Amino acid sequence: MALDQEKINNLREAHIGTMQNFIDGRWQVSNDGGEIAVVSPGTGRQIATIIDSSERDVEAAISAARRSFSDGSWARMAPHARKAILFRLAELIENEALQLAVMGVRDNGTEIGMAIGAEPGSAANTFRFYAEALDKVNGDITPTSPEVLSLIHREPVGVVGAIVPWNFPLMIGAWKIAPALAAGNSVVLKPSEAASLTLLRLAELASLAGVPPGVFNVVTGIGATAGRTLALSDDVDVLTFTGSGQVGRHLLHSSADSNFKPVHLELGGKSPNIVFDDCGDLASVAYQSARAIFANSGQVCVAASRLLVQDSIYDRFLEEVSAAADATIVGDPLDIKTQAGAIGTAAQLEKNISFVDRARQAGDSVIVGGENIERDGYFFKPTVIAALSETSPVVRDEVFGPVLAIQRFRDEEDAVRLANDTSYGLSSGVWTQNISRAHRMVRKLQAGVVHVNCYGGADITAPLVGTKQSGNGFDRSLEALSKYQKRKTAWIKLEQTA
Ligand code: NAD
Repeated sequence: MALDQEKINNLREAHIGTMQNFIDGRWQVSNDGGEIAVVSPGTGRQIATIIDSSERDVEAAISAARRSFSDGSWARMAPHARKAILFRLAELIENEALQLAVMGVRDNGTEIGMAIGAEPGSAANTFRFYAEALDKVNGDITPTSPEVLSLIHREPVGVVGAIVPWNFPLMIGAWKIAPALAAGNSVVLKPSEAASLTLLRLAELASLAGVPPGVFNVVTGIGATAGRTLALSDDVDVLTFTGSGQVGRHLLHSSADSNFKPVHLELGGKSPNIVFDDCGDLASVAYQSARAIFANSGQVCVAASRLLVQDSIYDRFLEEVSAAADATIVGDPLDIKTQAGAIGTAAQLEKNISFVDRARQAGDSVIVGGENIERDGYFFKPTVIAALSETSPVVRDEVFGPVLAIQRFRDEEDAVRLANDTSYGLSSGVWTQNISRAHRMVRKLQAGVVHVNCYGGADITAPLVGTKQSGNGFDRSLEALSKYQKRKTAWIKLEQTA
């Protein structure tokens, strides 16, 4: 979608006010919860208020979801009718793509050039993909002896709880909501307290599209109350989560402390981007490597935050990538020229600063950046750090900010060793003109995705898989429908004729 700066400027100050929870097909005030001020990271000013939901608020949403599931208004609706409604939802998202994108940027600071495609664009595409799929996935008949007919039914699991982070809320939310709804479930979604607005609007759009009351509910609030209540509920059948490993761990405990619900976890990363000396056009690879970490100011789960460069080109590459970092246009997230928007929260800005301080203390060299930008809102300079050791904090831990750690390697074996020496396993990149080496690296790297001669780029057709401590599940792809379905076997004894 071509972006028009004037249209964006007209939406900059659009009034939002207080957004309530969306439960049982309507906006509902809180029973006994508080309020959260929504501060725009691009300006530092309050733009809205959301509900800090209490346990009772979340329980009301779960009850609405359970009731709607039990009455079959969605679960037992003819598949072609469910499909038509999800198509309509995709259309409604597209009709107000710019409004949604601007609202989301005001909420979480992503640069508009990225947000327009990644948020409403991708969400609409995701709803369409699972709408198209929902009547094309069949049950099975298993091979048994002739006196028996064994059928495997696929049924919706019931009530799905979804908890999502503040980066790309619409995209990541849709990766969970769309297959869950397509499979016939009812959903309670808890967005991040730092990025709830577009998901609240999505719930309203779903209702306008014809999703019955109670089938898709959104409750806002902080993790320790609203998220925890959802995770501990005996009435939530599956929990799907994207966020940090620390919270993921809590959720697994919550499952064990309640009804053993399956918990699908999509967690963080410390993804290596490996550049061999036969990478081709060095300046272009350096530019793309810089974009792979500095887009959205590094607040991307698959961000290439570790750059491994072969010895023979290390010095030249460091120079090129540092120049690209320096040239990144950081600033007003609603300016179409901006290449790296705001830092999502004040706490995340502090975290970036503290990581750089720790790196300095560990003896690493800060080549460019390393400090916040003095202006309203939260901004941090694209930062390149030459890491002194393999144990430096910027090499080992996820910053989730515009901070690139660069290391050197000798040969292929050394590159694989360094790349895999991490508790994470989400994404990776390899740059080489040697096709055999490229394939060898794909086999050896411990990550859910290996990009070859590019970094980033994804499609709803291919799964995003977390391995090691980057998660136990995946989002996207046709297979994701099965996360929200349970199998039931019908074992039917057939009467035999003489
Ligand atoms: P976070 O883990 O702090 O919060 C995620 C969600 O969990 C929020 O909605 C939060 O309110 C909720 N939460 C917090 N404490 C909770 C608790 N005790 N019980 C239940 N819910 C709770 O993560 P974040 O800061 O919002 O997002 C950044 C993290 O998300 C990074 O680690 C990033 O890598 C990861 N991420 C992963 C992917 C992926 O696909 N693998 C995509 C985007 C972001």
